[in-house]
Amino acid sequence: MHPVELIKEIPAHQLSKSSWQQQLSHAITEPADLLKRLNLTTEDFDNYQAASQQFSLKVPHAYASKIQVGNPRDPLLLQVMSQSEEMLSVDGYEKDPVGDLSANKSPGLLHKYNGRVLLITTGACAVHCRYCFRRHFPYQQQQAGREQWAEALSYIQNDSSIKEVILSGGDPLVLSDQKLEQLITLLEAIPHLTRLRIHSRLPVVLPDRITTTLVNRLANSRFNVCMVIHANHANEISPAEKNALEKLKQGGIQLLNQAVLLKGINDSINDQINLSEALFDAGVLPYYLHLLDPVQGAAHFDVKLSQALDLITQLQDDLPGFLVPKLVREIAGETSKTPANEL
Ligand SMILES: *Cc1c(COP(=O)(O)O)cnc(C)c1O
Ligand code: SF4
Repeated sequence: MHPVELIKEIPAHQLSKSSWQQQLSHAITEPADLLKRLNLTTEDFDNYQAASQQFSLKVPHAYASKIQVGNPRDPLLLQVMSQSEEMLSVDGYEKDPVGDLSANKSPGLLHKYNGRVLLITTGACAVHCRYCFRRHFPYQQQQAGREQWAEALSYIQNDSSIKEVILSGGDPLVLSDQKLEQLITLLEAIPHLTRLRIHSRLPVVLPDRITTTLVNRLANSRFNVCMVIHANHANEISPAEKNALEKLKQGGIQLLNQAVLLKGINDSINDQINLSEALFDAGVLPYYLHLLDPVQGAAHFDVKLSQALDLITQLQDDLPGFLVPKLVREIAGETSKTPANEL
């Protein structure tokens, strides 16, 4: 296509958006489009439509480009492709497996653990992970929109035991630099807060999101800033992601990773070794490896506890201690994540 025609295709209201925002609005949302891009046929995945109607498909091109063409078992593809197994109803798999709805202190604020609160800054994500425990979460009522921030902020202001605020979602980095700037500035005005943590999958899903403006704002914050990224597989970390992580590191931001243990995706010893090594190579330390939350529609990703424990034992033999993540489960009502060996 001629370049001029390409320019015409972009609606006027998007021209002022930054590159990552344009990439986000052009994410793949049709399962058939994703299959076509990967040279796969609809026979490789049966009845994906019903699953994508329940929880829509969303994959930015930057992420799709890391999926191997022609491979229906690709570990990145399986994280994002809607599948018929999601429609199975399995005993023990619920809509709110981690009890988020009962931990609500004010709209969009979860205070489950001492000293830290989790702020649901937005319901949106850049990618829809099929195993996500928030796949049924009523985001519309829960997200702390600008009006609701006031309520969450006054809750934090009134409890001096809170030292750390965790920006979560959804994915907090889908918010614009400007909105994040506003929120961080409001948080910095609360004297007893010392740490800011950002939980985001964007560094490995849409690396262009790590803008210089964002990095500079975090680098100049009075907070000690930590970012917990969410990579499940070494293939998610290509040179573009490494570059984004390097920028964050240069801004003095502590980088950690949390992953979810997923059957057929990262449940082999080699997958886990490769992930830890790729992370460290990119300046990130493994933090948590989560056992799957029993959310309705994700049972096909479950790895048995005994197998998960064996995997960690093996990892301890093969890797330095600092590259072995803590295997945990989140249990509703508990005061912290529960180590798997206590289950
Ligand atoms: C996981 C989680 C945290 C953070 O727990 P850490 O062990 O500090 O990483 C905080 N609040 C909520 C509601 C959580 O689910
Ligand atoms: S980015 Fe995180 S919150 Fe969003 S769908 Fe994936 S796992 Fe869930």
